[in-house]
Amino acid sequence: MSEKILVIYTGGTIGMVPGEKGYEPKKGYLKTLLAERIPELKARELPSFDVLEYSPLLDSSNMTPWDWFKIAKDIYEHYSSYQGFVVLHGTDTMAYTASAVAFLLQGLGKPVIFTGSQIPLIETRNDARENLIASFLLAREKDLKEVVICFGNKLLRGVRASKVDADSFAAFASPNFPPLGEVGIELKINKELLLPPLREECKLRVKQITIPNLLIFPLFPGFSGETLEQLIATQDVQMVILETFGSGNAPEDNKAFLRALEKGREKGILFVNRTQCLKGKVRPQAYATGQVLTHLGVLPAWDMTREALVSKLICAYSEKGLSFVPRALNSNWCGEVTF
Ligand code: ASP
Repeated sequence: MSEKILVIYTGGTIGMVPGEKGYEPKKGYLKTLLAERIPELKARELPSFDVLEYSPLLDSSNMTPWDWFKIAKDIYEHYSSYQGFVVLHGTDTMAYTASAVAFLLQGLGKPVIFTGSQIPLIETRNDARENLIASFLLAREKDLKEVVICFGNKLLRGVRASKVDADSFAAFASPNFPPLGEVGIELKINKELLLPPLREECKLRVKQITIPNLLIFPLFPGFSGETLEQLIATQDVQMVILETFGSGNAPEDNKAFLRALEKGREKGILFVNRTQCLKGKVRPQAYATGQVLTHLGVLPAWDMTREALVSKLICAYSEKGLSFVPRALNSNWCGEVTF
């Protein structure tokens, strides 16, 4: 097998240069930038690499599920030619894409490392260089058979990661699962936390994607249940994520809200309960204010991140339709949930 890795360059701050309207990507420039700014990439300890540059290069805020699918398909198509993959991606929606790619690629047996930076590589002081070198090293780590984010000295499972800081180099956290590794004096991988190896006969498969109409409705004290009722009545929505309080609680005396859930259910809309707390999980039986949702058929998302939940709902819906989603929510596909 080739010792090379494939760098999939989708865009993001890492390769941007100052332009008239602020930082922007520059077509065809990454290879020169890497050679000029990180000459060590030629060192023997680092794998040699090819670059697959996307066109257009995107700020990740402009990405859609079609871009998730393109990345997964490109990994699938180049799978046998490389020992690992580094995806250069903007930080804003990196956790969504990393989650989706993990769900879309079934039977993954090689490392897929997502990375990027908060300051572009072209700047003298930047976090791109460290993130890139660590990612290159990890992309040939044979025990790593999953999609991860390598950023700010941490190695996180993609389906457990969230962007939590817009300013610091430690932009990502994995609130409900320990880091898979740390980039310190040593590149330390906590091997006992990695996904287990696949059975021999497991072949890589890439799932297809269709985009449902999905809505996220965050609750706050005094929110208007009528607004949700209106949305349910007038919009063609298939799934609604309710972002609830604490361990999955909602006001049991907000009549319009409860009516909206009932009417939605009659219309065949699927409601999911995710806590708006950064850490911890939905416990549907803990409080009366949580049980009211269970009685109305709202399904718990347990401790999934918003990013993993959104992409899992889209992937499950794409695979087998709305009726498959409840079963998908009650199974652990690639380490995204603890029940
Ligand atoms: N807006 C940029 C993006 O997500 C931010 C970054 O790359 O850090 O593409």
